[in-house]
Amino acid sequence: MNIILLGPPGAGKGTQAGFLVEDRDMIQLSTGDMLREAKDSGTEMGKLVAGVMARGELVTDEIVIGLIREKLQGDKKGGFIFDGFPRTLAQADALGELLEDCGETLDAVIELEVNDEVLVDRIVGRAAETAAAGKPVRADDNEESLKIRLMAYYKQTSPLIGYYHAKGMLQGVDGLDEMPAVRADIAAILDK
Ligand code: AMP
Repeated sequence: MNIILLGPPGAGKGTQAGFLVEDRDMIQLSTGDMLREAKDSGTEMGKLVAGVMARGELVTDEIVIGLIREKLQGDKKGGFIFDGFPRTLAQADALGELLEDCGETLDAVIELEVNDEVLVDRIVGRAAETAAAGKPVRADDNEESLKIRLMAYYKQTSPLIGYYHAKGMLQGVDGLDEMPAVRADIAAILDK
């Protein structure tokens, strides 16, 4: 089973993807994590995307599609969770083609529904907790980048809600619920 977790920054996609990895032996494909890894290891691509990411803008479709293409060749285990990908309509089309090429299907698109005030609190809170623990804070976890990240979500990513709705694939869960409740809602959708 292959699924997309859709939702704005701070909606809880990464957390819920982690639960799905634990519960169902699925593979989490987070393009954000892959890009941060490239940046931290100082690859050419990493250097190219660092500034764009810190500002909160989207990196090019070509780069993220290339990252996902590579991962789809590997072990499929209990299926893929696409976390933070696709983020544009072009990426969504590309994902459909990539899955078809490797004989896979997309089984569900789960939208984590939240509101902006909660996102700002969560992300600013995440940064404060990380700093208090003495760990490096994400360069884009600040209020200015967050505004740009939210705008990128509404402008470029939220059209995917209509796109997948039209394909009959979209399922919404209340992302404002407690984490275990969201986890249970997602499980119920996948077990249907
Ligand atoms: P995330 O960890 O998913 O919040 O992603 C962090 C940053 O990485 C984003 O703000 C973008 O700059 C970049 N990024 C991650 N995934 C994508 C994607 N699918 N398309 C374009 N940019 C992405």
